[in-house]
Amino acid sequence: MTGPLDSFGRSINYLRISVTDRCNLRCIYCMPPEGVPQMPHSEILSYEEIRTVVQAAAELGINRIRLTGGEPLVRADLPKLIKMLSQVGGIEELSLTTNGAFLKKYALELKQAGLSRVNVSLDTLKPDKFQYITRLGKLEAVLEGIEAAKEAGFVPVKINTVVMRGINDDDVLDFARMTYEDGWHIRFIELMPFKGAAEFVPSIELQQHISLLGKLESCASITGNGPATYYRLVGAKGTIGFIAPLTEPSFCSRCNRMRLTPDGKLRPCLLGEDEIDLKMPLRNSASMEELKNLILKAVASKPEHHHLEGGNVRLVNRKMSQIGG
Ligand code: SAM
Ligand code: SF4
Repeated sequence: MTGPLDSFGRSINYLRISVTDRCNLRCIYCMPPEGVPQMPHSEILSYEEIRTVVQAAAELGINRIRLTGGEPLVRADLPKLIKMLSQVGGIEELSLTTNGAFLKKYALELKQAGLSRVNVSLDTLKPDKFQYITRLGKLEAVLEGIEAAKEAGFVPVKINTVVMRGINDDDVLDFARMTYEDGWHIRFIELMPFKGAAEFVPSIELQQHISLLGKLESCASITGNGPATYYRLVGAKGTIGFIAPLTEPSFCSRCNRMRLTPDGKLRPCLLGEDEIDLKMPLRNSASMEELKNLILKAVASKPEHHHLEGGNVRLVNRKMSQIGG
């Protein structure tokens, strides 16, 4: 752990950067069918501005960066940004979260640009249901994208699945089976109430359901690397992680991250309202010391925990696609 400590003794070493609010899909839990009003291009941080923020963060000991969105691969020349960030001293891991639709096209280029890891968001393995959940997507393109990522050397394949009661909770066993032979690493995420469009399923319920396939062994070695807790079905190559922001009491005590929105706001907590603006300072030629102080201010203002425990639903001030989940 290398990052600056917050007021509750957590080391903040991980920054998730949303590079765009645009997306090619309209997932039912993330965006309305018509999309959300788009930020003007002039409001969105340039690649040079993002690099400056990453340099300041790295000087403070933040050593892990994840690019997200919206859909990061709809932003032009993303491999160029990857290359720029991979050359920043002190960054040990540079990863991407994507819906996978464009991975077939970009996987190799991303690898060559210096990307360390890719996570693909995928909520079902059934083509019709995939189209229902994403409104605009084709499952086949994502599966081809996952294969392309493997071929480009992004091994293991990591999948994030948001589970919604009555919609894809019956797909959980299909995903869990993929950890046996195909070596997929799956993480099941409790749906957060950004729009209240569907009901979340508590992780404990999923664990009980998956136990029908076999014994789930704890993988303590990967715990401590963020908010997920990891297990492995006995005999499986891949792992199964559970991200339980709504039902796990100690969830926030393991939080190691902050978020940067496309328009340059640092968010100490995904589910909080606080934001610290970096765009104006960046555009007014702030010094590295000034930027570092703003980042430290955001670290210091991280709340101890969010207020969604026990499914206490509260909408936050931005859509997930505008923050970068
Ligand atoms: N478009 C990319 C993707 O889908 O992977 C990156 C951005 S997306 C906002 C990042 C992650 O947030 C995805 O894994 C998505 O499933 C997740 N997400 C979106 N809305 C969510 C919600 N209400 N609750 C939990 N996770 C959510
Ligand atoms: Fe787009 Fe990702 Fe949101 Fe789906 S979850 S609408 S792919 S940003």
